[in-house]
Amino acid sequence: MLEAARQPLRYMQMAVPEPGPAQVLIRVRACGVCRTDLHVLDGDLSEPKLPVILGHEIVGVIVGTGAEVRSFAVGERVGVPWLASTDGSCRYCRRGQENLCDKALFTGYTVDGGFAEYALAHENYCFRLPEGYADAELAPLLCAGLIGYRTYRMAGEHAERIGIYGFGAAAHIIAQVAVHQGKRIYAFTRPGDVAGQAFARRLGAVWAGESGERPPEGLDAALIFAPAGRLIVDALRATCKGGVIVCGGIHMSDIPAFPYRLLWEERVIRSVANLTRQDAEELLSIAPQVPIKTHVQAFALEEANEALRRLRAGAIEGAAVLVMAQTDD
Ligand SMILES: [Zn+2]
Ligand SMILES: [Zn+2]
Repeated sequence: MLEAARQPLRYMQMAVPEPGPAQVLIRVRACGVCRTDLHVLDGDLSEPKLPVILGHEIVGVIVGTGAEVRSFAVGERVGVPWLASTDGSCRYCRRGQENLCDKALFTGYTVDGGFAEYALAHENYCFRLPEGYADAELAPLLCAGLIGYRTYRMAGEHAERIGIYGFGAAAHIIAQVAVHQGKRIYAFTRPGDVAGQAFARRLGAVWAGESGERPPEGLDAALIFAPAGRLIVDALRATCKGGVIVCGGIHMSDIPAFPYRLLWEERVIRSVANLTRQDAEELLSIAPQVPIKTHVQAFALEEANEALRRLRAGAIEGAAVLVMAQTDD
């Protein structure tokens, strides 16, 4: 439980919540730890419900349903992402941009999330998960995978040479999709992160180096997952004419000033916000075809603060996941 910004999470006992009419009650089996959790913790995202249970990459089994639930039944394994609900009626929802909904709620930020034994979710914002994956392996797909996928899609179909800045949870998933689709991946890590560069090469990157370096060929697109604004300028220097820079994070440090010639020749800088349910359906159907293999470091629920600390330090290869003890069943 996060009670106030910049405080450690508190481990506490709570009553099992009751599902509302359209909600399912989920026994959480695993929940991924995402950089966005750090941004909520640090107060970079300034409007959390407080106190709040963090965690928006929930994998669990339905153990209860509200009276109006029609799509899911007790016993089914589901995933719950960052997008917890939308109003379905604002101008963004009506034009297919529910990720930008004016009234959207977000799991582990404006509604309680999955760093817990039980969680509630609206049935229309839960997803069936592919077979053949352990619970912990699926968790990172639900944010790192979904936001990564939306970021990758915004690079455009024609992008062949794709740079990835920040080779963490999102990058390690989306690199596999991109390689599967015939793209050439160039991985950029923190200076001196030789292990991260080796990890990227093992996942199929044709080149790996440090963030300020020029890749051997100009890039068609750059996906930025690290929260440092200067990477946008590094990426502009590394892209060809018409290059697209897509920022996948929810928060970034300021972008330094740069000369217009770096942007000229139709280079584009854009961001990605949240996800749509269609993004989720697409990625979850692609995952077993690739097949995406997630690299996870497991922590117990009681170790949530330690998992967050290691994520902040860049000491996680792949994705950190809290795995809940299943003592009651
Ligand atoms: Zn809306
Ligand atoms: Zn996330």
